[in-house]
Amino acid sequence: MNVNDLNTTVPNTWCPGCTNFMVMAGVKKAITDLVNEGSFTKEQFTTVAGIGCHAKIYDYLNLNGFYGLHGRVPPVMAGIKLANPNLKVIGFSGDGDAFAEGMSHFIHFCRYNLDATYVIHDNQLFALTTGQATPTSEPGFVGKSTPHGSPFRPINPITLALESGASFVAREYALDLPNLSETLKKAIKHRGASVVEIIQPCITFHDVREFLKDRMYRIEPMDLENAVRTARSWNYTKEDNARIPVGIFYETQYPTLEEKIGVRVWHEEIPERKHKAEDLWARFK
Ligand code: SF4
Repeated sequence: MNVNDLNTTVPNTWCPGCTNFMVMAGVKKAITDLVNEGSFTKEQFTTVAGIGCHAKIYDYLNLNGFYGLHGRVPPVMAGIKLANPNLKVIGFSGDGDAFAEGMSHFIHFCRYNLDATYVIHDNQLFALTTGQATPTSEPGFVGKSTPHGSPFRPINPITLALESGASFVAREYALDLPNLSETLKKAIKHRGASVVEIIQPCITFHDVREFLKDRMYRIEPMDLENAVRTARSWNYTKEDNARIPVGIFYETQYPTLEEKIGVRVWHEEIPERKHKAEDLWARFK
């Protein structure tokens, strides 16, 4: 398989130069590699998107999928996995989608340890609606909804994911394609809830590329306590001395939602249930 096999003919409406193009390139590379190495088939991949600039990725990837409601990516991922546990589900959200509208769903996705990958395009604002503050906007952020600067402290999605029980938690930068695609591959292969936050500057309404330059440093997976401590070292502010850890913070294994409620056992019973349904239908014909 070639990355171009994942192209669609839908016209792309992202702003020219948007870093979402790099996110999509990373996703295509990861999926292509995983198919070519025999880990999964192309047909096993299923995408779910929320609402926002990120969500257009659904239109641009030649994969099965579901275009969902604002903030409701995790429940759709859960529904797909419970109906067919053999699918590899990748959900996409922006920071507004995941942490404003979808905050409670994000926490339960992590807590349930659903066997799926949740990719968050974090540009620290609502971009599709032309620039309003989200829960990850830095204090003082001036946008359409905060003309005098956001007075709020940002949430930290990495510590939130770690504390909520996600079994794989990573942060990558949209413009670092090799590391982005490698981490996505590991996240997709992981059994359990994997969260990959991608710092994805919106070059039209929140261009922080210059600020990010030289402030990022790579980390290796660590124990939970150190992962939380490391994640806390950057709280999405734009302070001069900010240092931003990127890479895999934490990786562990424990039973997934599907394993806990015995989804596979339930599915094995389906032929039996189908047979009963056919009997019933025959009686009413
Ligand atoms: Fe990308 Fe920002 Fe344009 Fe949306 S508004 S397409 S995030 S550059």
